Amino acid sequence: MTIRICAATTNPGKLRDFSVAAEDGGFIVEPLPGLREVPAPDENASSFEGNARLKAEHYSRLAASPSALILADDSGLEVDALGGAPGVRSARYAQDANYVPAPSSGASLGWLGNHAVDIRNNLYLLDQMRGLTNRSARYHCVLAVARAGVTILTADGAIEGEILSAPRGHGGFGYDPLFWLPELHCTMAEISLEEKHTLSHRGRAFRNLLPKLRSILR
Ligand code: IMP
Repeated sequence: MTIRICAATTNPGKLRDFSVAAEDGGFIVEPLPGLREVPAPDENASSFEGNARLKAEHYSRLAASPSALILADDSGLEVDALGGAPGVRSARYAQDANYVPAPSSGASLGWLGNHAVDIRNNLYLLDQMRGLTNRSARYHCVLAVARAGVTILTADGAIEGEILSAPRGHGGFGYDPLFWLPELHCTMAEISLEEKHTLSHRGRAFRNLLPKLRSILR
């Protein structure tokens, strides 16, 4: 039996991460129809799990069928020496701190092109980590599946790395140019999309979710 899951995301990269991981598990992941037309919930929880749950529950209440399985995720970067920051604030790390980069630094970080938010976040991260020797970090993702307004399970996945003191590579997004993969000797911004999808914290979380989901639905 093939089980259908509706992912509460319009991000093609996330959909692809989930679909690739679902392929051999007897699951089909589809985008939740009409997602753009419904109001998004406030992602105001203090943990990835809290945000994933509130999104999954919110969208499952709005789903056409009460039996629909709605998948939502929350993810971000956790830096050990910063006590797990930026964590749930990853997307708005610099903005929340009202961080204003030095006028010269934008030019030197032109590797991110027009991605001003990413540039600012990366500059702020470099600033916060100046002089720190412990550079260990991870991308962490938590997934939640909800049905009719109730979370039925959660799962997480992570990829471990280190934060460089200068960017490398032109691919990826977010913190990828600073995220060093020690086993591959390159940053997340230097690997192919294929490799990134294989390694992805989202794919790992989804692979952890599938057996749990299968046993609940059996
Ligand atoms: P989201 O919850 O997946 O939308 O991720 C929130 C934020 O975490 C993003 O805006 C990025 O700053 C960061 N992030 C999450 N996943 C990645 C990744 O794979 N590469 C780079 N940054 C990421």
